[in-house]
Amino acid sequence: MNKVMLITGASRGIGAATARLAAAEGYALCLNYRRQRDAAEALVAEIVAAGGQAIAVQADVADEQQVLQLFARLDQHFGRLDVLVNNAGMLEQQMRLEQMDGGRLQRVFAANVFGSFFCAREAVKRLSTRHGGRGGAIVNLSSVAARLGAPGEYIDYAAAKGAIDSLTLGLAKEVAAEGIRVNAVRPGVIDTDIHASGGEPARVTRVSQSVPMGRGGQAEEVARAILWLAGEQASYTSGALLDVSGGR
Ligand code: NAP
Repeated sequence: MNKVMLITGASRGIGAATARLAAAEGYALCLNYRRQRDAAEALVAEIVAAGGQAIAVQADVADEQQVLQLFARLDQHFGRLDVLVNNAGMLEQQMRLEQMDGGRLQRVFAANVFGSFFCAREAVKRLSTRHGGRGGAIVNLSSVAARLGAPGEYIDYAAAKGAIDSLTLGLAKEVAAEGIRVNAVRPGVIDTDIHASGGEPARVTRVSQSVPMGRGGQAEEVARAILWLAGEQASYTSGALLDVSGGR
């Protein structure tokens, strides 16, 4: 049977690019999304038309019950899991820290941090040899913001991604002897919709001037790193924080 990969936040951007590459490599895919059902279903149809296997499952990863339902659907449809890509993430309007209210902090940490923890927990229960699993891989989406801090834009998001780095380092050690490799990709500025949700659709163009390579990245360039970390080529790599940032 094909290996099964669950990608959270796969309706567009880096998640969708990862889904396309993974399908081409022969993974069967469980593609999670939050709101954009049409985009997720169109991606499933594209993968199936090319001979692949995929389903789309709606769930807000910030909501623990919805994550449990997502994994129940995965179990029911595929009956196995090999790779979790903890990709779902979000940021809010650019602002300074003294303007951030508690509701925003709750939303940013719930989606980016709690969501990744909930999904990692459910994946470990299924992958770990301690629980009768066959092992597998978890790839978390961090950001170079974790080390740059995103001043004047979204320190909350940067701090949430700092937590993803710590999750990656800790969990990699916790489950290394149970057949699970845990790594993170830290993208730089990548051309997706996420910048529009921060209020600056052209952010990639502005920030690319500070990128040593002189350009923003494409979602597929991040997806290639995710696929490498997910696969057997990375069999001795765990606890790595891989920057995909054009040298920034
Ligand atoms: P994007 O284009 O904004 O897409 C975000 C995806 O995540 C969408 O599929 C969205 O679903 C989903 N999503 C958001 N919140 C969710 C939630 N609570 N539950 C389930 N799904 C949720 O983002 P992207 O640029 O591809 O980013 C992907 C990951 O890379 C994120 O973790 C992001 O923080 C990280 N990253 C991106 C960049 C960059 O420059 N683009 C840089 C560093 C790190 P809907 O379509 O249904 O809303």
